[in-house]
Amino acid sequence: MRATVMFGAGDVRIENVPDARLVEPTDAVITVTRACICGSDLWPYKALEPSDTGRPMGHEAIGVVEEVGADVHTIKAGDLVIVPFAYSDGTCAFCHEGLHTSCVHGGFFGSNEVGGAQAEALRIPQADGTLFALPVGRDDALMPSLLTLSDVLGTGHHAAVTAAVGPGKTVAVVGDGAVGLCGVIAARRLGAEQIIIMGRHPDRIALAKEFGATDVVSQRGDEAVERVRELTGGFGVHSVLECVGLDQSMLTAINIARPGGAVGRVGVPQDETMSASKLAFYNNVTVSGGPAPVRAYIEELLPDILEGKIEPGRVFDQTTKLDGVPDGYRAMNDREAIKVMVKP
Ligand SMILES: [Zn+2]
Repeated sequence: MRATVMFGAGDVRIENVPDARLVEPTDAVITVTRACICGSDLWPYKALEPSDTGRPMGHEAIGVVEEVGADVHTIKAGDLVIVPFAYSDGTCAFCHEGLHTSCVHGGFFGSNEVGGAQAEALRIPQADGTLFALPVGRDDALMPSLLTLSDVLGTGHHAAVTAAVGPGKTVAVVGDGAVGLCGVIAARRLGAEQIIIMGRHPDRIALAKEFGATDVVSQRGDEAVERVRELTGGFGVHSVLECVGLDQSMLTAINIARPGGAVGRVGVPQDETMSASKLAFYNNVTVSGGPAPVRAYIEELLPDILEGKIEPGRVFDQTTKLDGVPDGYRAMNDREAIKVMVKP
């Protein structure tokens, strides 16, 4: 089968690899009907050390189940399924607590152990716990929005939940990528009164406003902090969604949180230490977040997509076949595209 492999920074290739197949009796194998490129895929695209074996890429997909192992009981061949970016058994202590990304039998797609989703097919460990069977057909017009349930919508929602967004709250979203834009959708869904999007790309800002952003801050650094305070009576916001992962974005996030506020971080951190630790302490700012348990959020978010209340699929502004994936990475890295959908 054909699959996307990254051999080093900037070196993405479509390779012939061994077919995805059942390994464990709890596995399923799916044909990938939709996949996409993630903002987090751009971190290795910038910095991956060169290797001869490379890394299979992609962790977001919708697909059709082709085959299931002997111990798979709730998922069956023919099901159209959402693949969350992490696999999980659905039965351990952490899965019961809704933290599927800490599953004791879990792990992440886009690794040499399980393969990546930017491919023709994918092996799904812990299929019963991992997969979510969709109640729609495979060519449904809602497919782009449904695909966001595998990562970016659930991740934006997790940022909002961990930042304690609620009715009447003031919110700022740091980062205008697909996750940040989905964070705007999530903040609005949860009843936020004021939603400030921090970004400077006109197309992304326009989409953020349509998703519910009430204010735009295009400045950076100290000027951005100043502007957010001006917009919030001098105090800063109750909730900050940190959707980037850089030292500078964390510094901004903690600086714009009001005393007693919270930062929900979902941008994959690129540093070991966290900036503005002292300021967070003296302002009683809660810093929370982490890999989103998107599997836990599908039940809550799916109805709003099916009823047309939210349209997170609008974050996809390019679509390509597998051959176009390397150029899709380039386009997202050059900020030509917000998010690229792949139809293998
Ligand atoms: Zn588990």
